[in-house]
Amino acid sequence: MLPFIRQDLAELTAYTPHPGGASTESAHSESVIDRLDTNECPYDLPEELKQKLAWTYQQLIETNRYPDGGHAALKQAIAQYVNESSQNICPEGVTQPKTAITADNISVGNGSDELIRSLLIATCLGGQGSILVANPTFSMYGIIAQTLGIPVVSVARQEDNFEIDIEAAKRAILSEGCANDQNQNPPVRVVFVVHPNSPTANALTTNEIEWLSSLPEDILVVIDEAYFEFSQNTLADRLHQHSNWIILRTFSKAFRLASMRVGYAIAHPELTATLEKIRLPYNLPTFSQTAAEFALAQRQLLLAVIPEIIAERAKLIAALTQYQKLQVWPSAANFVYLRVKSVEGESAEKAHQQIMQQLKARGTLIRHTGGGLRITVGSPDENQRTCDRIAEIFDNS
Ligand SMILES: *Cc1c(COP(=O)(O)O)cnc(C)c1O
Repeated sequence: MLPFIRQDLAELTAYTPHPGGASTESAHSESVIDRLDTNECPYDLPEELKQKLAWTYQQLIETNRYPDGGHAALKQAIAQYVNESSQNICPEGVTQPKTAITADNISVGNGSDELIRSLLIATCLGGQGSILVANPTFSMYGIIAQTLGIPVVSVARQEDNFEIDIEAAKRAILSEGCANDQNQNPPVRVVFVVHPNSPTANALTTNEIEWLSSLPEDILVVIDEAYFEFSQNTLADRLHQHSNWIILRTFSKAFRLASMRVGYAIAHPELTATLEKIRLPYNLPTFSQTAAEFALAQRQLLLAVIPEIIAERAKLIAALTQYQKLQVWPSAANFVYLRVKSVEGESAEKAHQQIMQQLKARGTLIRHTGGGLRITVGSPDENQRTCDRIAEIFDNS
């Protein structure tokens, strides 16, 4: 360890996006690999949209010029999309309600990951706060917090339905920040939830939403709606009631732009103004901004595959549920979560690891995480292969 590097970073390991190894060591490297481990949309942008983007790149984008550092056009388009997709929207032609989202409510990041980091800088840096997460959940909150030296407080979820252990969360919030011998942590300043959660695919329940509503104003509530387009379930229409809530969304999933790194936040204008202070001045390349604007303009076309993905999800869940050995949960997202039944602790983890490896050897990458397996819903062909390969694995065992 180089002596000028912070001690606490020595214990961290770098995030590996494809822990299973996406390409090289697989037996299937020469043929197609079904990449069902990162919850992307299985489809690339339609050809005509790609051509239009390429044309824009060649004809209109000046690569020698800095991007629009204020993301004005993109924020405008996002605000319109958010209004259209939230439940309090008026039908076309009718004036927007008072609670309509405007560009002032939007901040755009280099992926939601950048927004997560900016939020942590805005709230907890310098020993001023801890964060609370309910595991299993999206790992980036904890990873980014640790790189900033911010303490992470974890609570559990119910084993059967993955609801957050709210009583434990309440206790943790009460006890953090009470300086005593065991606890040196600063108070909980941010609660992170995913709606629906990854990897467990469950949406927030009425109880959980009530608890989030009851949190005091000095705790920021981050509601990550990365999978909103699959769940069609948003809390955006309640934002105006809670100045301490922020919603995160991304172009990486339903909008098919994972390669472009565009995420956005919807929040109180004072909070988005703070995020603007923190982010790097030209955080989003012109090409990424253009791609996101194109995607929004073509949303009807791009989101038209969502019903197919939802139908495929039901088929996948039905197929996997046939195996006595597997427990498969319902899903409000574009992935399915499962565990091997009636084995616990280490042997369950061994079984999961083994299934993941056996699928990989047959050409399907899935994610082993949170004490279970997460499988992205792919194209119909990919899902068929997932089912066939699982059948092979279980017939042989
Ligand atoms: C995929 C995902 C994101 C998206 O992150 P980007 O940095 O925008 O690609 C955010 N949150 C959750 C929970 C996700 O699963």
